[in-house]
Amino acid sequence: MRRYLRGLPILALAALVAAATLTPLAAPPTRAQSTGEVNLYSARHYDTDQSLYDGFTAQTGIAVNIVQASEDQLVERLRNEGANSPADIFLTVDAGRLWRAQEAGLLQGIRSDVLAARIPANLSEPEGHWFGFAQRARVIAYAKDRVSPAQLSTYEALADPAWQGRVLVRSSSNVYNQSLVGALIEANGLEATERWAQGIANNLARNPQGGDTDQLLALAAGEGDVALTNMYYYVRLLKSAKPEERAVAEQIGIFFPNQGAGERGTHVNVSGAGVTANSPNRANAIAFLEYLSSDAAQLSFASASNEYPVVEGVAADPVLAGLGQFRPDPINARIFGANNQLALLTMNKVGWR
Ligand code: FE
Repeated sequence: MRRYLRGLPILALAALVAAATLTPLAAPPTRAQSTGEVNLYSARHYDTDQSLYDGFTAQTGIAVNIVQASEDQLVERLRNEGANSPADIFLTVDAGRLWRAQEAGLLQGIRSDVLAARIPANLSEPEGHWFGFAQRARVIAYAKDRVSPAQLSTYEALADPAWQGRVLVRSSSNVYNQSLVGALIEANGLEATERWAQGIANNLARNPQGGDTDQLLALAAGEGDVALTNMYYYVRLLKSAKPEERAVAEQIGIFFPNQGAGERGTHVNVSGAGVTANSPNRANAIAFLEYLSSDAAQLSFASASNEYPVVEGVAADPVLAGLGQFRPDPINARIFGANNQLALLTMNKVGWR
């Protein structure tokens, strides 16, 4: 190749160099162009979300195209598409996952006065890479016939030997646990959190298995006495059309940990979204996120997943509100998101599989 170039007349060589220099500046043919649309990559899948998105189109004339897949598939797709990605918005659950997407360079920071005013600062990534649009609490579920709420207090206290053989919790590979432990690391430090995780590992009623719902089923079946779960799994059982699922919920009480005076509050996490790094319809994407923060959208978005709205003054679903009021831990979700790897290492180190 070098020999061939050397043999070329100097003008032709200059033209070749110019072409090579110019090529990356021209838009690749596959690049999605900005039009009256917004492309949403969503790991969420609720029937009512479609009418929510239709509401945005009715209001703005901007069509919403949805790619629905698992979190991992969407991240893989965004990575592969790179600068040619048609995606404008990435929507998923848990700050740990949003942070991982941010770390992978898949999101861009945006500024929006509307979002800054509507979304609480602790549920927004400080540089605008993602925003929480619904929130979930990770609570202690207990068997009403074997545990009194008076015996419960904090996440920390579940590591007490009094709970030996009684604690149900899913695997450390689950992002919900990683975020909770990430928040504990921030609150109590790494060493204390490692001791706590060791205590939990010692207190397990069985080897971690299944999802949060499986912990609730095991609780009702008497395999353990307390379980860590996101509260919406309990609410789903409570609202179930199946009598046997409602019967499970009836045996279970929900306790919001760390509510005492001077305690930091119950761990909350988000369903959230951010504008993708290469968004071709950036202004539409921001308009869409602003729409999600409107009162009507908040109500629909949060109740679809049995979560709490994030915008102040928007009422929670009545069944959810029936669980009681609680004070959330005000930590910024980015902090426990960023502790994700450290949290996983801590759990693995003590044998919490
Ligand atoms: Fe979930």
